[in-house]
Amino acid sequence: MPELAADGPLSADGPLSAGDFSSWLAEVLAAIRGEGATDVACGSCVACCSSAQFVHIAPDEQDVLAHVPEALLFPAPGLPRGHVLMGYDEHGRCPMLRTDGCSIYEHRPRTCRTYDCRVFPAAGVLPDEPGKAPIATQAARWEFTYASSSDSAEHAAVRAAAAFLRSRHDALGPDLAPATTTQLAVAALEVHRIFVHQHEPSVHDVRVELSSRRSNR
Ligand code: SF4
Repeated sequence: MPELAADGPLSADGPLSAGDFSSWLAEVLAAIRGEGATDVACGSCVACCSSAQFVHIAPDEQDVLAHVPEALLFPAPGLPRGHVLMGYDEHGRCPMLRTDGCSIYEHRPRTCRTYDCRVFPAAGVLPDEPGKAPIATQAARWEFTYASSSDSAEHAAVRAAAAFLRSRHDALGPDLAPATTTQLAVAALEVHRIFVHQHEPSVHDVRVELSSRRSNR
């Protein structure tokens, strides 16, 4: 899982304004708790629709399910009956994606509505799993701004949390260690507060925080 270069975007395209870091962090943490969503300036970007992602659809998303052919769905492993996943084609593209964008945009799944690739530059990592190159390219373009030194410190804490989660992967154990770059970035956001106050928390402290956040989702 590569780290994001600190001295500029990795993409040939120009930088994108990710907005004020601390305001965004408050919004994305609320979205992770299921309280609203962030407003991502996707423009014409369809990187997350073209990056070999399984799209989760929950049983309460009846409007979505009415607009996705049943043949594209299969039971979501490890989740209760009724939770399904939509796969992708041989090019990593969502089967609902057309040349002019999402064909069910007004009815797209919650997973799509809440996806925010700014979690990667926030954590200082880029996704390197197979098929994720389009997201990595787009994510590298975001640049946050900071209203105060405490905002900068907050971002430094998120990056420190991500570095800790990566370096202590084995010590955290298979039940709590992030399995993917996306999980690592989200976990870093969730536990960053203890890194604001402690330069190097213990593995025990981080496990407690991760367990608490997971049970509150
Ligand atoms: S359903 Fe639409 S928004 Fe979601 S991944 Fe597919 S094309 Fe993209």
